[in-house]
Amino acid sequence: MSSSGSKTRGLLWVAAAALFAAVMVIGLPVLARHTPWRMERWLAGVFGGAPAAPTCKGRGQADSFAQFQRVVKRIYPLDAEDNALPITIDVIPGKTVNAYATLGGHIYVIDGLLQQARSAEELAGVLAHEIEHVRNRHIMQGVAVNLLTLGAFAVAMPGDPTAGSQIAYLLLTLKFSRQQEYEADEAGLRRLQAAHVDAAGFRNFFERAEKMAAPPQILSNHPPSEARAELAARYRGYATEPVLTDNEWKTLTAICQ
Ligand SMILES: [Zn+2]
Repeated sequence: MSSSGSKTRGLLWVAAAALFAAVMVIGLPVLARHTPWRMERWLAGVFGGAPAAPTCKGRGQADSFAQFQRVVKRIYPLDAEDNALPITIDVIPGKTVNAYATLGGHIYVIDGLLQQARSAEELAGVLAHEIEHVRNRHIMQGVAVNLLTLGAFAVAMPGDPTAGSQIAYLLLTLKFSRQQEYEADEAGLRRLQAAHVDAAGFRNFFERAEKMAAPPQILSNHPPSEARAELAARYRGYATEPVLTDNEWKTLTAICQ
């Protein structure tokens, strides 16, 4: 009797673990997609994530900021669903080649990326990818996973004084899964096509980034380069219109000077 009792308990544990795994895998993305923006914005206020440095508005050449806004407007907003998104896109000073989206729909491009990009189309390609991380609620999903991980930490080590710094660390090192990166790539490319922006910019930027001596953080967890190239290759042959002239692009890149 006791052996069948422990067998039942064992089975219950297996069932509970399977249920927990199912909630993690299926439930979290659904939960994240249905989290109201108001709540994500509130979480953004609690956890921060905004850069310490003020954003670049083109002090030297006020026109730089206007050109940056033109690139953004070209790809966002495009439809009613976009209009409902609370996205803001800004440039911040720094040498790192990166762009990232934080909680609450804030996207930041580091000046180092602008200096590596060779055209407005390349910048638009990176921005389209980040916009889709926001639109697909990937940031909220990542935060939900991290909060659950922290909950597990708290249960395993009650009263651990380092828990606070672990929270900050997990939120700062938010990583997207490969599947999320692929989703952002594919939807980003569709966005470029809808806006008649040449997707060669997307292809070229990421191809060059692969070959940099220190591959930029924006490539972490990205799909294998062949898979990304293969996907990007499907988006060609449609009618395109240039985003900026060469001179306008040059003006834009001085936005942090
Ligand atoms: Zn990404």
